Amino acid sequence: MQYLPGSIKDLINHFTKLPGIGPKSAGRLTYYLLTKPDHDVDDFGKALINLKKKLQYCHNCHNYAEEKICRICANPKRNPAIICVVEQPLDVVAIEKTNYNGLYHVLHGVLTPIEGIGPEHLTLENLRQRVNNQPVEELIIATNPNLEGEATAIYIQNMFKNNDLKITRLAQGLPIGTDLEYADEITLSKAFEGRK
Ligand SMILES: [Zn+2]
Repeated sequence: MQYLPGSIKDLINHFTKLPGIGPKSAGRLTYYLLTKPDHDVDDFGKALINLKKKLQYCHNCHNYAEEKICRICANPKRNPAIICVVEQPLDVVAIEKTNYNGLYHVLHGVLTPIEGIGPEHLTLENLRQRVNNQPVEELIIATNPNLEGEATAIYIQNMFKNNDLKITRLAQGLPIGTDLEYADEITLSKAFEGRK
């Protein structure tokens, strides 16, 4: 690597930090970009810069948005009486491939006491406010089917045990330990139909 120009080495290093990309792929991607016209590479760079600069969290559901209220929350065709509670923004991407038509609430994590992640580190207080102030009839808890996901689901159930609210959990069609983001469309659609 010593012989490489600094700017090439730099980009290879950045690609290597991405999940699933080893040094070989990182090199391939970097040299591929060098064959593209200047404006394509510029656009790629701008997309990277804008990624963090333009985004904020939706004030309602805490998913990524460029506006105060995201496009899903702002869509009048969505059913605001149903909220699907997910761990991460990427879970929304997975569920949007099904025909789910309610809204979401993104927790940005799960309860993980061993890592010091308690309820105050998640968006649970915002969820409580939504349930209390908006016409919510059903919460679908779609945390992952592992230890932390289950503990978080139980915590949420307890939070609302005095509310007149239907609380469901995605059906156990999902294999234990599978992250929602890797579940295929059909499995996920079935999990929604069979929620209980
Ligand atoms: Zn939103």
